[in-house]
Amino acid sequence: MTTRNKIGILDLQGGVHEHAFHLQSLGIEPVRVKVAEQLDDLAGLILPGGESTCLIRLLNIFEITPKLKAAHADGMKIWGTCAGAILIANRIEGDQPQLGLMDITVARNAFGYQIDSFNTIVNIPKVSKKDMELTFIRAPKIRAVGKGVDALLHIDDYIAAAESEKCLATVFHPELTPSLAFHKYFVEKCGITITSELTEIPERTSWMQFARIANPTK
Ligand code: GLN
Repeated sequence: MTTRNKIGILDLQGGVHEHAFHLQSLGIEPVRVKVAEQLDDLAGLILPGGESTCLIRLLNIFEITPKLKAAHADGMKIWGTCAGAILIANRIEGDQPQLGLMDITVARNAFGYQIDSFNTIVNIPKVSKKDMELTFIRAPKIRAVGKGVDALLHIDDYIAAAESEKCLATVFHPELTPSLAFHKYFVEKCGITITSELTEIPERTSWMQFARIANPTK
């Protein structure tokens, strides 16, 4: 039996490199998961943002879905960012659930078109003492959470981040803004100790141009 002591990122489609960069900034070298066998020694798996219909099709084509569910049942924690949060939801408004691993109800594309994407600044005390800039890209809304799921962040009429014992769901993209707080939070949730003192990536990288342009306060 292998020990679950690594962090993986599902590497089929979406924002993989950006998550990897944040983890590397914390001193964690992630496993880029392309085949089911790579799930065996993972303490945690990040399902990146991208396109949830595309992701579930690729998960099924490459026969990763059953192994992913089994690994999760065996203790592998999952963090779904944006499309990843849609993948793990037990209920999707007007659609069939996909992996169904977390008792949340989501509404896809709930803010409108791609052009309606935006940045905002929030405080999530459980995750960080500092304010955090968050990027929402054609994001879903978490409409409701079930038993055993805590809302970490309420905004207006929706929930933007939620957590259960084995899952974390964020409808925004912490990998696209400088704060390392969410990555640290997830890695520690997986039982892995971080020794790095860094709280932000050293400087904004090219993929953060979007975040800068979309931020109405700048
Ligand atoms: N709109 C996408 C979907 O429904 C999610 C977008 C994202 O991950 N940024 O799958």
